[in-house]
Amino acid sequence: MELVFPCLQSGGLFRSADYEIVAFRGVVENAAGEKTLEARVRLQNPCPLCGARHEYAAAELPCPFEAGDPGGRNPSGESGP
Ligand SMILES: [Zn+2]
Repeated sequence: MELVFPCLQSGGLFRSADYEIVAFRGVVENAAGEKTLEARVRLQNPCPLCGARHEYAAAELPCPFEAGDPGGRNPSGESGP
């Protein structure tokens, strides 16, 4: 599965499917009650934009583990005269 990564050097975006999940520690809740995914995503190939091998916090990326979380759901009903 391809993810979109931001280049930490140039600020550009690129797609890659060559990454690995490292330091996976699951979902952690902080003092403010916010849940974040505690894991690191490391590129297995050099960045196509700058050549470095970036590493990201999973919470900063559109991670597949977080898919399905309803951000904003509109209440239905109250339709019609
Ligand atoms: Zn880069």
